[in-house]
Amino acid sequence: MVSSVAGTLIEGRISQVRPFRTPHHSASMAALVGGGLKVRPGEVSLAHLGVLFLDELPEFQRAVLDSLREPLETGVVDVARANAHVTFPARVQLVAAMNPCRCGHLGDPALACSRAPRCAADYQGKVSGPLLDRIDLHVEVDPVSAADLGLPPPAEGSAEVAARVAAARRVQTERLAGTKMRSNADLNGDMLELHATPDEPGRKLLLQPPKRCVSPRAAIRGCCAWRGLSRICRGVRGSGGSMSLRR
Ligand SMILES: [Zn+2]
Repeated sequence: MVSSVAGTLIEGRISQVRPFRTPHHSASMAALVGGGLKVRPGEVSLAHLGVLFLDELPEFQRAVLDSLREPLETGVVDVARANAHVTFPARVQLVAAMNPCRCGHLGDPALACSRAPRCAADYQGKVSGPLLDRIDLHVEVDPVSAADLGLPPPAEGSAEVAARVAAARRVQTERLAGTKMRSNADLNGDMLELHATPDEPGRKLLLQPPKRCVSPRAAIRGCCAWRGLSRICRGVRGSGGSMSLRR
């Protein structure tokens, strides 16, 4: 439907492939969430049921990024104009990438950032806290050295990981059969408690201030963080084929 409205159907056929959209950081608010004179869906709707990848996240205009907060929460975009009021679907997996600081060298032992910590604080401050709060998983990637390039490839390649993800999705589909939910991302309330309640050691671990991998703000996010973390843990355990949610 979205592709049809946007006029991007290839040979008039509905695509069987999930969308992967990568808007440039110069994108306007209308380009990202929809709008314009003749109201058209934005990138967040064109990525519906697929991936919206935002590279160089702090380089986007802050107001443009913040316009994503509501669709990320509700899964829809409301575009209100004088001549039209349109609601587009916008259920996406948001993936974003950014440098640790403007010069990109923070934490790099070979090329230390000369303006730390200001360089990082200014750069990371361009992304608002409420938007970061909606990103459940944060991963720091260490710089790659020349010596790293000579290492043998990892034992588990992309194809193997893709197979594990597909298996986890199948488990989720079976678990949620007969409900309106499709994946762990939809789990909420009673269903989240039923399927993603950790055991006692796991609960204690989740209540500890996070060190890596989860948003530093997660510690103060209360139930939102708890829900996000529980869904992630459910997904990670699911990919390993386990039903229980343990530390
Ligand atoms: Zn720097």
